This record gives sequence, C-alpha cells and structure tokens, in this order.
Amino acid sequence: MKIDLHSHSTHSDGKESVAEVFQIACESGLDVLALTDHDTMSGWDEARQAASKLSMTFVPGIEITTKHHDVSVHLLAYLPSADYEPLRNRLAEVRLARETRIERYVENLQTEYRHLTMDAVRATLQEEGKSVGRPHIADAMVNLGIFAHRDEAFAGPLDKHSVFHIPSGGIDTLEAVKLVRAAGGVPVMAHPMARSTKNLVITEKHRQRFVEVIEAGLAGFEVYHREVGELARNWLTGLATEFDLVLTGSSDYHGLTGKQNRLGENTTSLEVLRKIEAQASGSAIQWA
Ligand code: AMP
Ligand code: FE
Ligand code: FE
Ligand code: ZN
Repeated sequence: MKIDLHSHSTHSDGKESVAEVFQIACESGLDVLALTDHDTMSGWDEARQAASKLSMTFVPGIEITTKHHDVSVHLLAYLPSADYEPLRNRLAEVRLARETRIERYVENLQTEYRHLTMDAVRATLQEEGKSVGRPHIADAMVNLGIFAHRDEAFAGPLDKHSVFHIPSGGIDTLEAVKLVRAAGGVPVMAHPMARSTKNLVITEKHRQRFVEVIEAGLAGFEVYHREVGELARNWLTGLATEFDLVLTGSSDYHGLTGKQNRLGENTTSLEVLRKIEAQASGSAIQWA
C-alpha cells in the first residue's frame, strides 16, 4: 500500500485543486493521501469526495505554522476534530497574521519591484478564505513577468536571507502540539531540520529543544522528506527509538509547477499509519 501523508492544494499554496491533487495521486499509484494545507481544514470536504470517487483512502490533516524559540517549525496535525473551537480559532488567527505579513512583505518588495501590488497577489488566490504565503507573491511575480517560475522568486527576493524577508509568524510549537492533542489529533513534526547542510552539528541544545516538544506530546518526525538530510535523519531516528515515536515519509507536494516534490516520492508504512490512527480520536481516516 502506497501512503503519502503530506500534500498541498489551492486551499493553501499548492497549485492544483484538491480534486486534481487526488487525480494525480491516483495516477501516481498512491492508495492513501493526506491533505495537509497550511493552517486550514477547508479542503477536507472536497478531499473526501475526490478520494471516494477514485477509491482512495483520505487522511485529514493540517500543516500548522509554529515557532519554537524563534525557530520556524511546521507541525503536521493528523486527524484532529474539525469542530474543536480552540484549534479553529487559533488557525483563523494564524491565517490573518499570514495576510498582514504578506502585505508588509509586498511593501518591502515594492521598493525594488514597483509593479508588484497586493491586488496582483490576491489575484493568485483561487479559494475563498485560503491561507496566503510567499508562494502567492512568487506567483504574482511570475504573472507580472518578473520571474519565469516560483523557484526563481524563492532563489531571489523571497529567499529567507534576502533583505526583503519577513519571518512567518505562527503559534508557539508547544502550545500547538498540546492543542492538536486536545483536538484528538496526532502531531508530527514536518521536515525537521530541513535544508540543514552537511556541516550540521547537533548539540545538546538541539536535544533539549526536541525533548521539550516530545514532552508536550509530539507523536513523531517526518524524516523521509527530500529536505531532511542523512545526518538529521539518523539522529532523529535515534530520538524516535528512545521516546517511542513514529517516523513518517511524504512528498510535501505543492503541484506539478509549484515545487519539484512529486507525489509518492517518499512514503509512510501502513504500520505507522495504523499507529497514528490508534492515537487519534478527533477525525477518522476515510478508508477506501
Ligand atoms: P511561507 O509559509 O509564506 O513562509 O512560505 C513558505 C512556503 O513556500 C513553504 O510551505 C514552502 O513549501 C513553499 N514553497 C512553494 N514553492 C516553493 C519553492 N519553489 N521554493 C521554496 N518554497 C516553496
Ligand atoms: Fe507550503
Ligand atoms: Fe512545511
Ligand atoms: Zn508542506
């Protein structure tokens, strides 16, 4: 059984509708797909319909924007209740903060790219109430002919080291982990230590910080991901054994033209998915 637990649609910064994402997942030979749009559950209903039409299994998820000691941490939440108000409210706040941040980002960029406007960014949003991010600025810049592809914008003015950059906000990671558990969901850290270099030196401080998140209720690490290097993966695998956590693998798909990641390029075992399911009480997996 081929299982991919991390994908994005036009409900956040993916390039394709939920139905299209599931269609491509099906063509890629996937049996199970989790939709994990940034800070929103608004794509779940469409996902249930799309999965059912294709006889696929759907796992409801979210990728929550969080911050731990000023470090950006993306937290995957599997199977939380869609009706748990404290979680819904926090997500709505994060989506609002995303908008404010993107408006400020556009103001920064306008000093160099005078034709870039917030309207041009809004025009790239295809769903009502979706969560906006840097990829939508990239799309606007592509539409304006400034760049040929999202990747070029991310390699240039949208790079996190560029002078225009404004870090993403998000809620405290420990609070998010507890909130997801309170909603009956299962929190898994997305692409931990992503894009760290070969020179990564893992210290006691790293350990302390990860243990903090584990003690708050973390269930596992997404270590099989194209941005997680071997050094980080090996170290995290040791930590998972020590604390009895699960290890997942996923593509983090953003669309055929969104990012290079392809559906099914990394996968999770059925055994691990069963463990996640056993820990969840908020929502159910829609098995095919
Ligand atoms: P933000 O959350 O606004 O800081 O934007 C970061 C998001 O952009 C992450 O979810 C990335 O996965 C996503 N992203 C989409 N396309 C790209 C790309 N071509 N290069 C880097 N990140 C990208
Ligand atoms: Fe994204
Ligand atoms: Fe992420
Ligand atoms: Zn993602």
